[in-house]
Amino acid sequence: MRGNIFDIKRYAIHDGPGIRTTVFLKGCNLHCRWCHNPESQSLQPTVMLQVHRLGDKEFREESTVGYSVTTEELMSEILKDQVFFEESGGGVTFSGGEPLLQAPFLLEILKLCKAHKISTCIDTAGAVSCEMLEEICRYTDLFLYDMKTAEEAKFTEFVGRGFHQVLENLGCIAGYGNRVIIRIPVIPGVNNTPDGQQALLDCLKQWPALREVEFLPYHRTGADKYRRLGMTYEMGDLASMTEKDLCEIKECFRRNNYTIL
Ligand code: SF4
Repeated sequence: MRGNIFDIKRYAIHDGPGIRTTVFLKGCNLHCRWCHNPESQSLQPTVMLQVHRLGDKEFREESTVGYSVTTEELMSEILKDQVFFEESGGGVTFSGGEPLLQAPFLLEILKLCKAHKISTCIDTAGAVSCEMLEEICRYTDLFLYDMKTAEEAKFTEFVGRGFHQVLENLGCIAGYGNRVIIRIPVIPGVNNTPDGQQALLDCLKQWPALREVEFLPYHRTGADKYRRLGMTYEMGDLASMTEKDLCEIKECFRRNNYTIL
């Protein structure tokens, strides 16, 4: 079976426990304004412009992001790192884009990983109707589940359609008993206001077994990619956040008995 990916990152240490190989699947049905991988959003290969300068001369080069692989080809890439997984308690993480959009491909590669006793993780925004979700859960050790905002109007304005699907899928995954780390990208003006924080807490109360939360500070490292793709970066000049800027939201969740990762 073939799938579309756009990168394989080795020795990743922020995409789940231990040392991981992160596979980035192409295609996303959301359009978060702050997305730092806009080249991931189309399911098809995407052309990006690179401008090189040499003295006063400018050279333009086009590169194509994304390619098709078979599950066997991808598995042989993953297996190159197996020794690091065993020594560090790591494994493979499927990210994107939105990996659930390529559910049949994802399921097959998850099964191959499990056949090789490799720990698996899926990083998802969950806004996809997925008939294979239950079966995918059987082959997944950990979900990194994005909660961008718990306020529907803000979700629709800043992220796209699918707010209720996100909640439904999270409920299903929690119900199947999978380990879930809630990942919250902290975006000024979207979810780090007192109301935004309270809405997240009120929403997450529905699943009392989910206690692990990770906060990711807004950063603008992807801003230049928008220009190279001929897209508009809708966050304007908003400055990147630092770890220090997360103190308040972390403290708020700690007070509500969440474990902050
Ligand atoms: S869900 Fe992720 S990949 Fe998709 S648009 Fe949002 S930030 Fe980008």
